Amino acid sequence: MRLYIALFAFMYDSALVSHVLSRTPEPAHLITVATRFAPSPTGRLHIGNLRAAVVNWLFARQHGGRFLLRLDDTDAARSTEAFADSIRHDLAWAGLAPDAEVRQSERAALYDAALARLVAAGRAYPAYDTPDELDLKRRLQRAAGKPPVYDRSALALTDADRAHLEAQGRRPHWRFRLETAAPVEWTDLVRGATHIDPASLSDPIVKREDGGWLYMLPSVVDDIDLGITHVIRGEDHVPNSAVQAQMFAALGASIPAFAHLSLLTSTEGELSKRLGSAGVDALKAANIEPVALLAFLARLGTSQPIEPFADAAPLIEAFDLAHMGRATARFDMNELVHLNARTVHLLGHEAVADRLPPAIGPALWTLLRGNLKTIAEAADWADILTGQIAPPAMPEDAAYLGEALAHLPPTPWDAATWSGWTAALKTATGRKGRALFHPLRLALTGRETGPEMAALLPPIGRERSQARLAAASMAPAA
Ligand code: GLU
Repeated sequence: MRLYIALFAFMYDSALVSHVLSRTPEPAHLITVATRFAPSPTGRLHIGNLRAAVVNWLFARQHGGRFLLRLDDTDAARSTEAFADSIRHDLAWAGLAPDAEVRQSERAALYDAALARLVAAGRAYPAYDTPDELDLKRRLQRAAGKPPVYDRSALALTDADRAHLEAQGRRPHWRFRLETAAPVEWTDLVRGATHIDPASLSDPIVKREDGGWLYMLPSVVDDIDLGITHVIRGEDHVPNSAVQAQMFAALGASIPAFAHLSLLTSTEGELSKRLGSAGVDALKAANIEPVALLAFLARLGTSQPIEPFADAAPLIEAFDLAHMGRATARFDMNELVHLNARTVHLLGHEAVADRLPPAIGPALWTLLRGNLKTIAEAADWADILTGQIAPPAMPEDAAYLGEALAHLPPTPWDAATWSGWTAALKTATGRKGRALFHPLRLALTGRETGPEMAALLPPIGRERSQARLAAASMAPAA
C-alpha cells in the first residue's frame, strides 16, 4: 500500500514535472508573446502597479500575444478574496482585461514538483537555521564588515545531522543554491546590459518550514508553465531576475526576456502615501477616463510625448519598450487631470453616451465636449440647456437685460437667431463687444465661458431664455 502511494505520488509529480519542464521548445517564429501582470492580492492596485499592467498589456497587444493575470497569493495570511476581486475590477475598469487568470495558491503541486527536481539536481537544499540564528549570523557578518550573505552552513549537514535535527522537531525550509562563479548577465529591454554578481546574494529561501511558498520559485515555475516570453516589472526586481534566470536554467527552460521599469515617484519626490493610495477609486473620484489613464501611463517616463487619444489602438501601435527611460518617472495627478480634459475633447458620443444625461445627444455632445474637463461636467450643461439654473445676480446689467428681454426674437430659433438678436441689441443700446455679449451669456447660462452662444441659444429655447432674462433683469430689492 505504501509503495503504491509512493509510486502514485511519483507518477503524479512526474506528470507535472514533464508538463512544466519538458515543454518542447517552439520554433522562434511560432512563439506567441505572453506577458503577465503579477500582483499580490494583499492590497488595492496603485498607480505604480497599474503602470506595470499597462506596459505588459500594451506589449502583448502589440505583438498579438497574450496578457495574463497571475495572482501571487502564496501569502495566505495577507491575501484576501476581496483584494483579488478589487484587482480584477480595477483592471477591467482600466480596459486591461486579461486573457486568462491563474492564482498561485492553486498551483502548489507544480512548485513541489519543481523543487523536487531542483533537489535531485543539487540546486536546492534543506536548511534548518532559525530566524534568530540567521539574524545573529547577519549581525556578526556586518560587524566584520562583510555582506550579510547566507553562509550555506546547511550544505555541510550530513544525513545524520539532519536526522538529529528532525528528531528534535526541527523542520527544514528550502533554499535554491545559486551558481556564484560567474555574473548573471542579460540585455534588459529597458536597462540595456545588466550584470548581477550572484555571490552578493543569499541562496533564496523558496519554501518555508511550514510548507508555505515564497515568491521566487513559484514565479519561475508559472512563467515556464504559462509560456511567458517577456517578464516586465519594476526595477526593484532586478536582483530577483538574476536569481530567477538561474532558476529557469536549472529547470531546463529558456530564460524569458526581462524588462525592468524605472520606479514611479510622486511630484514630492517620494512615492508618497497620498500617491500610494491613488488607486482606481481616486481616479474614478477625479472622473479620469480609462483611456486617458492608459495614454498617460503608456508614455510616462518615456521619450514619447504624452498626448490624448480617443482609443487604445494608436497607443498599442506606437508602443516600444526602447522608449522607456531609466530615470525615475514622476507621476503628477495634475498632469493626468489635464490630459483627461484633452481626452474628453476627442471622445465621440458613442464612447460616452452611457454616462451622459439623456438630454445630451450627439449634437449637444459635440457642442459641449471642448468645454469639459470631465464627462461628469456634462450633467451641469444638461441643466443649463434643458433644465433649471439658479439665475446669477447682475444688478449693474439689469437695464440692459430688460432691453434684451424686450428684443427676444420670435420662434422658431436656429443658428442665426443669436446674430440677429445681438445686432438688434447693438443698435438699440449702443453696446458692443464684451459689454454686448457677456451679460447675455452670463444671464442665459450662468457661466462666464462655454460653447458658442449661437449654438447654445436654440437648445436653451425661448421660454427658458425669457425666464432667465426676466430673473436677471429684476432690479435688486432696495
Ligand atoms: N508579486 C510580485 C510583485 O508584486 C510579482 C513580481 C513579478 O512580476 O514577478 O512584486
